[in-house]
Amino acid sequence: ADESSLTDALTGLYTRKYLDMVLEKYTRLEKKLFCCIMMDVDHFKQINDSFGHLVGDSVLKDVAQVARGCMREMDTVCRYGGEEFVVLMPGSLLEQAEQAAERIRRAVSGAVRGPDGQPVTVSLGCSEYEKHEDALRVLHRADKALYGAKRAGRNRVWVARRSPVIAGNAGSGGR
Ligand code: GH3
Ligand code: MG
Ligand code: MG
Repeated sequence: ADESSLTDALTGLYTRKYLDMVLEKYTRLEKKLFCCIMMDVDHFKQINDSFGHLVGDSVLKDVAQVARGCMREMDTVCRYGGEEFVVLMPGSLLEQAEQAAERIRRAVSGAVRGPDGQPVTVSLGCSEYEKHEDALRVLHRADKALYGAKRAGRNRVWVARRSPVIAGNAGSGGR
């Protein structure tokens, strides 16, 4: 793959294609423990509708930069598509992912502003990779948690809790 398909032109973050490669590596080759954060800009359509697409683009750049700045060098921060972002945190536990997501949430709402001076906010969902599962599952759980954060009012972090290991119990929960 050439470099241009691995780096997002607007934000400079990694692309979904690059994310897929890292996921493949973590899950198949290295059997790594890692966490996943999925993030979506709140009411982004309103920003586009009120101020235009170029302002929307500039907000996306700002959000991307702030999120990147909240993470470690080893974390993979990517623009998953549109106004959605995914972070992979190798070697991290769910609690650390939650803290990192909260760090991003606070930094974005504190530092990113629309042209009207209104804070731009993000919602985030976190999940932890469970050994041997398909890579898509960990993304899916983060996405479900993100959806929970949206429904609960946005500008918040939700965590896909691991199901407690109880014989005969295969439940999964939010919080
Ligand atoms: P929610 O809080 O539920 O996430 O609401 P939302 O308005 O953010 O969500 P919705 O999915 O309705 O709108 C996302 C918008 O993002 C719609 C699309 O036009 C816009 N968008 C996607 N990619 C880009 C982009 O690269 N640049 C700009 N400016 N807008 C984009
Ligand atoms: Mg979206
Ligand atoms: Mg959105």
